[in-house]
Amino acid sequence: MSEFLNARRRSAQTFSCPGCGGRPVWDPATRQMKCPFCGTASAIELDQTPPTEYPIEQANDASAQDWGEVKRVMRCEGCGAQTILGKDETATLCPFCGSPHVLDDQSAAGIAPESVLPFAVPKEKAVSGFRAWLKGKPFAPGKAKKLAALGEISGVYLPHWTYDSDTVSQYTGLEGHWYYVTRTRTVTRDGKQVQEQYQERQTRWEPTSGTVSRRFDDVVVAGSERLPENLLQRVQPYNMNELCRYQAGFLSGFTAEKAAVDVHTGWNRAQKRIESVMHDMAMRDILSHADEAQVKSIVSKHSRVRYKLTLLPMWLSSFQWKDKTYHVLVNGQSGKCGGEAPVSPWRVLALVLFILAVLGVGYYFFMMNGDGGAVIESFDMMFGY
Ligand SMILES: [Zn+2]
Ligand SMILES: [Zn+2]
Repeated sequence: MSEFLNARRRSAQTFSCPGCGGRPVWDPATRQMKCPFCGTASAIELDQTPPTEYPIEQANDASAQDWGEVKRVMRCEGCGAQTILGKDETATLCPFCGSPHVLDDQSAAGIAPESVLPFAVPKEKAVSGFRAWLKGKPFAPGKAKKLAALGEISGVYLPHWTYDSDTVSQYTGLEGHWYYVTRTRTVTRDGKQVQEQYQERQTRWEPTSGTVSRRFDDVVVAGSERLPENLLQRVQPYNMNELCRYQAGFLSGFTAEKAAVDVHTGWNRAQKRIESVMHDMAMRDILSHADEAQVKSIVSKHSRVRYKLTLLPMWLSSFQWKDKTYHVLVNGQSGKCGGEAPVSPWRVLALVLFILAVLGVGYYFFMMNGDGGAVIESFDMMFGY
């Protein structure tokens, strides 16, 4: 199987424009390869059969490094991001921080991806989405907006690890069973002190243990650490049903980030998530025959663990404002836009003054007319703005 894949990748390596011999790039608009020199289009196979997943025991940085063509790794002196490009391609600005200090790095490109979600949003569409987003930020300083608008927007594939596992967890804990005891208390009724009986709930705890198991499929762990998690969440989701088997052509004209999280660190993170699912399962297991549950210890065994690396498309623009880096993201599949922008205190103050002025005018009319209608209308005006 891997022989077959390697053969196909090698053939992709020699891929060149049938019109002029130039290097074609992936065109998101037409979903085929297009030559940037003469415009000749050529087809690329969009193979959606499930990608191969590899046993974790075999994973090391030297394994599965066939990217289908020679790659160079660049390193940003500003933020440390490592990006992967074709050997003839150059990066002028770091897509993660906007720094021009991007240098050749001697490290290898690392484990090659098995699947890719090819870019579906063309650059022009990403730029107009980005401009619209910027317009919707009334509190950003004008200068920062100009700076952001000038910033280069680059198409970057962000690495994601996925893990499968058969997990069996043995747990020990306590199961609690409720019982009721009759107690007596003194209450005041019609001004008299009387004794009354009531039921009080108690829990009898007994040690318990058991086994829970589950098959996990595609636990996703981000391989990038350059972008804040909450920012990435804003442009989710991706439709993973459109994943294609990796081919070097999809990356032509784009860059990929080299996974900052290696395959084993990613697996450790996936295990933490699996562990919390198993903990919940153990709780439910105890509660199936008890009223309360406590899990004291849990030991999990993972077998048939498999991983793969997937690349997801992101348009990325970064700009510096007062020593801080701001990012604007456009989902390369859906076009969903999200980002962060500085807030100008002057613009906020201007709005506060405006609101106070509107309220002042409203109050004036309220006093003149003796009814509250004018105030309500003023509020409408304010929010309409
Ligand atoms: Zn050509
Ligand atoms: Zn950088």
